[in-house]
Amino acid sequence: MNQFLSRRTFILIPIMSILKIIFKPMQVLASSVASKEEWNFSKDEWKARLSPESFYILREEGTERAFSSQLNNEKRKGIFHCAGCDLPLFSSDKKYDSGTGWPSFWDSIKGSVETKVDFKLIVPRTEYHCSRCGGHQGHVFNDGPLPSGKRYCNNGLALRFVPD
Ligand SMILES: [Zn+2]
Repeated sequence: MNQFLSRRTFILIPIMSILKIIFKPMQVLASSVASKEEWNFSKDEWKARLSPESFYILREEGTERAFSSQLNNEKRKGIFHCAGCDLPLFSSDKKYDSGTGWPSFWDSIKGSVETKVDFKLIVPRTEYHCSRCGGHQGHVFNDGPLPSGKRYCNNGLALRFVPD
């Protein structure tokens, strides 16, 4: 192995370990609570309601593989609902092809999602989740198209598409 590389790795590993310890409590707090009492299910209740894949995304803030969702290529008119509680989150007229491999929107239906900052990749990112059941949907970035300039990068497994 190249001596420079091995030395750099030797320094980086302890730094990453320390950062992980510091940010771990924030990850524990990352799971969002439902705003509506009737959607405030326990972990086991959610497990019973959802597929294992959707549970991992919605309740454990997982991320599906890029280009794995059929909804990435969905071009029909319709509404994208939360896969956890069926709240309408996005309209097809705000959907666009971001090239990232995840269904992307430049705006959400008003009041349907809430945001919080997470540190899962150390760098702060803005996580968003369903405003009713608290289910994790994706992350929102400031590199989207006009007029909003936003890019809602959504997991397809967290959505249910209802064509018009
Ligand atoms: Zn929901």
